[in-house]
Amino acid sequence: MKKVPFVTKQQLDEIVKDYPTPFHLYDEKGIRENARRVNKAFSWNKGFREYFAVKATPNPFILKILQEEGCGTDCSSLTELMMSDVCGFKGHDIMFSSNDTPAEDFKLASKLGAIINLDDISHIEFLEQVTGAIPETICCRFNTGGEFKISTSIMDTPGEAKYGFTREQLTEGFKILKEKGVKTFGLHAFLASNTKTNEYYPALARILFKTAVELKEETGADIKFINLSGGVGVPYHPDEEPNDIEAIGEGVRQAYEEILVSAGMDDVAIFTEMGRFMLAPYGHLITKAIHEKKIFKDYIGLDACACNLMRPAMYGAYHHITVAGKEDMPCDHKYDVTGSLCENNDKFAVDRMLPKIDIGDYIIIHDTGAHGFSMGYNYNGKLRSAEVLLKEDGSTQLIRRAETPADYFATFDFTGMFDKYTKQYK
Ligand SMILES: *Cc1c(COP(=O)(O)O)cnc(C)c1O
Repeated sequence: MKKVPFVTKQQLDEIVKDYPTPFHLYDEKGIRENARRVNKAFSWNKGFREYFAVKATPNPFILKILQEEGCGTDCSSLTELMMSDVCGFKGHDIMFSSNDTPAEDFKLASKLGAIINLDDISHIEFLEQVTGAIPETICCRFNTGGEFKISTSIMDTPGEAKYGFTREQLTEGFKILKEKGVKTFGLHAFLASNTKTNEYYPALARILFKTAVELKEETGADIKFINLSGGVGVPYHPDEEPNDIEAIGEGVRQAYEEILVSAGMDDVAIFTEMGRFMLAPYGHLITKAIHEKKIFKDYIGLDACACNLMRPAMYGAYHHITVAGKEDMPCDHKYDVTGSLCENNDKFAVDRMLPKIDIGDYIIIHDTGAHGFSMGYNYNGKLRSAEVLLKEDGSTQLIRRAETPADYFATFDFTGMFDKYTKQYK
């Protein structure tokens, strides 16, 4: 499918007058419409709720938009819990799905009354020790082990993943939790990431539904929700088929009818914890071409780097690139599109066919709305960019300012040492 940016060159010419490149731009309209499609696809389930995975796009303004669309938050750390709290997510609006969890994170999750999703059987005792009690509602994460297959194709290898309880540990864990006073149980699993098939959630749901029926029989646990977690992918490449969330919702509904309703468990809520599917397509990294270099290959140097978007460097991930205003020009130039890090993997694209790029052209990097800004870092002393919201009425709002050198130097304990460089930013 042809990839079209959600901003035009004309709009960008205006936006860059207020916000210098590089910055992440988010499309409020796209975010809201997609969230509504998700809710509609699962509207057959009375208790359905999407808990947005905060780690994908940890910005309070984005969380507020999703809150207005009925979403909760899925947190993995102390600061994500703090952000959810400050944004007005209360109690069971918050899912806490973390692993290798520090004590202080459990303490805050417990204080906020979040639904805690335990990653390991040993965390039952740990949680009780650090918080003084096991909450009445709890969730456990299941690792099916081995390979996870859909039809004949291997989607992922949970047996190699550090997450979750084994099947035997679930039975034991549920029994222990029941003895400790848990009244309401949930079951969670995350078996494959960035999936490109409508079969993923339904296949995962079948596994979790069957397991829930078994666990109820074995332990008498009252299982009230099944958390399908994240993993629903987006088409980063124009050749990829987009997932159809309506078909995914329908696939889960069929599994629900067949397995849960038949077993008399017709009051189980479905939860999801999507990050990528909720946000990735509705973010662009807006950058500018600042250098062209011709040696053994032709390089276009941008004012953004892997610190602004790590996925290409880290996973060799494809992110589509549009040269603003040259959407309809022939892609007859082959470029490596780079950032300025002293790392040769700092390339947004390798051997990419693009229209002829001129210095000063605005370069739009697609699908950066999730796991984009949030995976940013400060290597080479690079500063994090701004985040800008393109609102439904076409106006823009700065939803996070860019870092300044004062931010970068703020954690050194030599007060005043950098004043000569940082005063102007205070
Ligand atoms: C990362 C993560 C998610 C979100 O995953 P996406 O692929 O962005 O949908 C959800 N739940 C947990 C526990 C995660 O670690």
